[in-house]
Amino acid sequence: MIIRLILLTAVVALIAFSNFYIHSLPVQFQLHIRNLINLTGLGFLLFIYGLSRSLRREIFDLRRNSEKMRLKLFDYGKESSVLTAINEVIEIFGKNPNLEDVLNRIADAALRLLKVKYLLLQVYSTGEQKFFTRIIRGKEEFELGEELIEEIILQGNSVLINNLVHSPRYHSFAERGYRSLLIAPLKVREENIGLIGALAKEERNFTGRDLDLLTMIAAQASLIVENAHLLEKTKALSITDGLTNLFNYRHFRERLMEELKGAKNNNFPLSLAMADIDYFKNYNDLNGHPAGDEVLRQIAKILMRGTKGSDTVARYGGEEFVLIFPNTQKKDALLVCQRLNKSIKNYKFKNERKQPNKDLTISIGVANFPVDAPDTETLIKKADLALYQSKENGRDLVTAA
Ligand code: GH3
Ligand code: MG
Ligand code: MG
Repeated sequence: MIIRLILLTAVVALIAFSNFYIHSLPVQFQLHIRNLINLTGLGFLLFIYGLSRSLRREIFDLRRNSEKMRLKLFDYGKESSVLTAINEVIEIFGKNPNLEDVLNRIADAALRLLKVKYLLLQVYSTGEQKFFTRIIRGKEEFELGEELIEEIILQGNSVLINNLVHSPRYHSFAERGYRSLLIAPLKVREENIGLIGALAKEERNFTGRDLDLLTMIAAQASLIVENAHLLEKTKALSITDGLTNLFNYRHFRERLMEELKGAKNNNFPLSLAMADIDYFKNYNDLNGHPAGDEVLRQIAKILMRGTKGSDTVARYGGEEFVLIFPNTQKKDALLVCQRLNKSIKNYKFKNERKQPNKDLTISIGVANFPVDAPDTETLIKKADLALYQSKENGRDLVTAA
């Protein structure tokens, strides 16, 4: 470009110079010089034409580059707004790790960022073979066929379809007036655990960039789902007894406080039972600790099977169990405990004939609120005392406080 400008200046100077001196030259030279000047002029015109073309090309390139920059900035802008939205959600999750709440917020963020009205977020539980969280924005009719779910869940594929009318598989959406569909799977490590999908009507087509955006949102949603599951597992572990899978002592204390509060507030009765395996030391000594552990697991199962979902069965420690019967009169709790005592007596434990009474049995004590005790501590003490009486009176017994 600069070289061309220098050349241009040189030509103009040459023409001006020649015009000035032309008259001082002999006539035969003047004609040649004039022809030369005309030719130079023509060349100059062509040169100017070429220059303007290259200038136009350069302006075009400049415009193209600035458009590219603008799009890049737009991408960055979008990315940062996704990150901001997701960060907000993660912060909320940190304060209140409620998965449903957080997924609702992710759905709202996706709606805003993709500028759509119809959105579906489903989390699939592979264990139960069904979606256990389903969030819908827009209309309740965002129903995905089994086939499509299979494709996304089993193969982990994304879907981007504009012109749904021409796609027989998704014809049902087209029939309901939708034009475009965008779906990204939720993945935890290699496992597909759900999906997030957006639908649009006539007003827009989805682009590759929209899919990138949804994929980013899906990745963050997957992380949150994974964290929530881990948190749930940790929480469950912290209240569970590792050997029997019953609740542990700490959780029993919490439940008893809560249940007793409920009983006081509603004027309901509450019964509490303490149970202890008879001559268990003897069983361990004769059969070994692992066989004793197996007995503890079997008894835990019998206690669980013989009680209602609203009752709490926990391992109090060692070979002692505790049962909370909310909204239960003392006589009804006694009936349940007698049945449990019988079930254990009738159960054929390995090598139980070598027990002092030729059977593996359990002793139980039952106390009741408000009949025997006004608070948790007294209730536990009274149930324990009743258990002690069962032991004193020969074991394999149920005694009321
Ligand atoms: P009683 O009829 O008076 O209750 O006699 P007992 O032998 O059952 O009572 P004792 O308190 O003397 O012994 C309890 C035994 O329970 C001793 C201990 O080895 C056993 N035990 C406690 N926890 C566990 C456990 O987790 N696994 C096994 N295998 N045994 C346990
Ligand atoms: Mg004991
Ligand atoms: Mg015992």
